[in-house]
Amino acid sequence: MRKFFASILILFAVITALPQPVMSAGSDIVVVTPKGKKYHRMGCRTVRKSYRQLTVSQAQKRGYKPCKVCEPPLSSITSTPNDNFEVYGN
Ligand SMILES: [Zn+2]
Repeated sequence: MRKFFASILILFAVITALPQPVMSAGSDIVVVTPKGKKYHRMGCRTVRKSYRQLTVSQAQKRGYKPCKVCEPPLSSITSTPNDNFEVYGN
C-alpha cells in the first residue's frame, strides 16, 4: 500500500514538473506577410511562402491585427523591462 502512495506522489511530481501550457509572455513569435495587415501564428493556413517573423508586441506596434483564422496571441501579458519601461518618481 505504501508503494501505491509513493507512485501517486511521483506521478504528481511529474505532472507539476511538466511545462505548463501557458502563453509565454513577451516572446510569442508570430508571422506577417508583406502585403497583409494581420499577424499570424506560425503555420497558419492563410500564410504563404513569404513571411517575416516578429514578436506579438512588435507586430502590434507596427499596426498588425490578429488573424481570425489562426487566432494568434492578442498581446504579450508582461512587457519586457526595456520595452515601454518608465520610471515614475515618488
Ligand atoms: Zn492566420
